[in-house]
Amino acid sequence: MRTANLDGRLVLVDDDGAVDVHDASGGLFPSDPQAVFDRWAEFLDWARSPGTAGHARVPFEERRLGAPVPRPRQVFAVALNYSDHVAESGFDTPAQPSVFTKYPTSLAGPYDTIALPSALVDWEVELVAVIGAEAHRVAAADAWRHVAGLTLGQDLSERRIQLQGPAPQFALGKSFPGFSPTGPVLVTPDEFDDPDDLALGCAVDGETMQESRTSRMIFSVAEQIAWISRICPLLPGDLVFTGTPAGVGGARDPRRFLAPGEELHSWIDGIGSLRNPLVAGPGHPDGPHAL
Ligand code: ZN
Repeated sequence: MRTANLDGRLVLVDDDGAVDVHDASGGLFPSDPQAVFDRWAEFLDWARSPGTAGHARVPFEERRLGAPVPRPRQVFAVALNYSDHVAESGFDTPAQPSVFTKYPTSLAGPYDTIALPSALVDWEVELVAVIGAEAHRVAAADAWRHVAGLTLGQDLSERRIQLQGPAPQFALGKSFPGFSPTGPVLVTPDEFDDPDDLALGCAVDGETMQESRTSRMIFSVAEQIAWISRICPLLPGDLVFTGTPAGVGGARDPRRFLAPGEELHSWIDGIGSLRNPLVAGPGHPDGPHAL
């Protein structure tokens, strides 16, 4: 099953188009795409009931999609989770997941224009897990039961702010507005032959920068959820960005960062793609104000 945020309303998506969940359910479920995660099991029962196939379709245009999870309470992310990215970053393989946060105000939709705050903004294509049932102190073997679905994201990163200071704190450098585009849809885990082995990648203005498979993660989606939930309860509708493979701009020689006028195209098997145009924002040398 696939859900999406179409013009701010929760829809079911299939080959025939989109079904407005609030209208089709007779008001049983609210139109707010965020609210559904607090009632995810009940929603799945309704969405999979035989009656939903006959519901009226609403016009569906991908460019009207917003973030499938627009206002999560928490957004976690895991650094250094693919061996080739660990190597290009010059670190040793981590013994446990290296967790940081991105703030929810950084979320954007799959086609949104992103304002670059400097000339040091880098790309990181990532699989994103969406929590569907509270997970606190869960074992990895049980973790998938707490996942509503998977989506695609970019963990955009301003490298100077991310890495500055005697003890770098990643959160702010990865949380400028627009730094977490996600989408285009949320796909339930049962839709995949193997949700732990999906091809993903990204390109800048048509030049492929990253290409890998999620089976190459050091810590699997389930292991990441188990690790984070040892400490923080993961709440319905929370996001977990699961790490990026090799090919980021800051590790290239010469270094290469995103520039105004370029398009960042990201993709992942079975979910779809993001196409985010880039412009100079406040702080960028070509933008209105210096940072
Ligand atoms: Zn990342």
